[in-house]
Amino acid sequence: MLIIGIDGATFKIIKKHLKALPNFERLMAEGSHRSLKLDMKPLSAVVWCSMFTGKPPEEHGHWDFVVDGKLQSRRDIEADFIWERLEAEGYEVKALNIPFVYPPYNYNCEHTPLNFGLSLELDELEEDRKQLLAKCREILQNPPDLFIVVFDQLDKVQHFHWGEPVVLEWYERMDQVVGELAEYDEKMIILSDHGFRERVEGGEGGYAPPGAGPKQLKGDHDDEAILITRNVRYPIRRITDVYYAIQEEIRR
Ligand SMILES: [Zn+2]
Repeated sequence: MLIIGIDGATFKIIKKHLKALPNFERLMAEGSHRSLKLDMKPLSAVVWCSMFTGKPPEEHGHWDFVVDGKLQSRRDIEADFIWERLEAEGYEVKALNIPFVYPPYNYNCEHTPLNFGLSLELDELEEDRKQLLAKCREILQNPPDLFIVVFDQLDKVQHFHWGEPVVLEWYERMDQVVGELAEYDEKMIILSDHGFRERVEGGEGGYAPPGAGPKQLKGDHDDEAILITRNVRYPIRRITDVYYAIQEEIRR
């Protein structure tokens, strides 16, 4: 089974530009898709953690990348993740670049993203994306029972370039990524942790990526994530259902 996370991906862009995104169009037509309305704060740390622990933030207790000035790590989270759970049942699982902590978390594989995942410039983000895709290819030469990867670059592109043509170029790049990776497994989930919208000046702007500093922010998170599934029968209606869907589908 394959889980492809795209941090910050929104159907607002995808559905408007399906002709430029043939793999999204095909995968949405082949399987099923829906918006996932968040019932929690649209922050990457919180949402990816809830997805892969099956617990709402009130239970997993992981509210941000930094708490009381301390960068949070896996050890600060008192909950089991899906990869640990399934490995204990004998499945081979790899998780790559999951941004619920910084730098993004890996399980049973090693990867250090460019600039430890703190890249903000477009050329750096593109290099980071390419390196991550190369790592996916390497892992998928011998596919584990479950492979989870999150591409986190689009989030930053949208924060700094929302409304610019380069955003659609990045969706086209992600379209190629999902098209290529989808070849590796029939059972698949593509999803994001939140959507995006124009940043409202003076409004809540609390979702700047780590390391953003004083750079101008044009986009901000919204509370509609994307969900595209293929050969997944378990109904996913909320973020925490993702954990149970993976568990049930792997056992089938
Ligand atoms: Zn995010």
